[in-house]
Formats: sequence, C-alpha cells, structure tokens
Amino acid sequence: MQTMTQQMVDQIFSFSELGFQEFETSRYVTGILEKQNFQIERSVAGIPTAWLATYGSGKPVIAFITDSDCIPRSSQKPGVADHAPLVEGAPGLGEGHNSGMAVNVVAALTLQKLMTEHHISGTIKIFPGIAEELLGTKAHYIRAGLFIDVDLALGAHDGRYSGSDMKSAFEAGRTLKPEEVPTEILEDLIEDIKREQAFRKAKRKPAKAKTL
Ligand SMILES: [Zn+2]
Repeated sequence: MQTMTQQMVDQIFSFSELGFQEFETSRYVTGILEKQNFQIERSVAGIPTAWLATYGSGKPVIAFITDSDCIPRSSQKPGVADHAPLVEGAPGLGEGHNSGMAVNVVAALTLQKLMTEHHISGTIKIFPGIAEELLGTKAHYIRAGLFIDVDLALGAHDGRYSGSDMKSAFEAGRTLKPEEVPTEILEDLIEDIKREQAFRKAKRKPAKAKTL
C-alpha cells in the first residue's frame, strides 16, 4: 500500500494537468479504482474530465473527495523545498493535489477492505475536485444531484499555497524594503486571507430573531 501510494503521488505529479484538462489524471485514477471493483461513471455533471466511482450498496453512503487539477506557474522539482521550477512559468502541482488524490484513493480502498473483511454493508463514492482552482466543480456535482444520498463526505487537502509562493512571499518580506516587495506575489495571499476572514465572520454571525 505504501509503494502504491508513492507511485500514485508521483504519477499524478508527472501529469500536472490544469483545470478541465485532467484527462490523464482521470484515466489513471479511474483505472486503479476499476481494477478494485469500483463502478465508474464518466463525464458526470456535464464535465468531460469529471467522474464518479462507486462501490458497494445501501447505507451509509460515504463519499471521498479531493482536488485533481494543478496550478498555473507552479512548476516545481519534486522533493525540493526551494523555488525550483522544472519548466519556468509552466503549470505544476504546487498545492499538493497529487498527494491529496493518492490519500483519498488509499483511504477509500482501506475502507473497502475493512467493509469486506467485516461484512459491513454500505456505499463508497469517490469524487475528483475537477478544476478546483478555476471554479470548483463540487457545487456543480451538488446541483446535478450527485450528493443527494451521501451521508458523510470526507475531503483531503494538503496545501494552502504553493511552496514557491510561500517561499517568495517569505523572502520578499524578509529581505526587501516594503516598496520593493513584488505585490503580485502578496496580493493573491492577502486577498485569499481576507476572503476567508469575511467568510468566517459571516458564518459566526448569530441568526436574527424572527419578528412576528
Ligand atoms: Zn487546492
């Protein structure tokens, strides 16, 4: 299982496909799941590279979901913490979606094994987060009714920013004068943090009491 996980991490890394172009990634992952007796539905929710893998039957229905696309300008040599693109300016898996997918598949296969060994009924579903960096197709899956019978959804995500972005932001903050900080590096990070803070604040707001 350890070898298989590492191979999956590396294989998906080697594809590094941008949103809506995850053809090789989808083919590879569904191939693995098909061999493990998962039923594959392709192009779900009208999205060509999307798929849904299902195993088992009945309740509970447990879904695993993780992103599958890469990020523009995030090309990086594997296993190197410093900013070191394989191809300068090329897309890459700087946010670790390759390992997220491997973790998801291994978790689902482990659950499948436990269910079989202990004669536990239930359904396992696996969804790929297609084009997560562009628009996030999970909302489209919901609209297409793909989550209607799902009791529990587990997501794996192991990166917030690309290693190279964080490194550049850190270096910029540490070594440059404020006016020299390359704003394009920091703007994205700041915007993202602001969005998340606003989202959390909105969620924390207590519901207004109903007036009759
Ligand atoms: Zn991500």
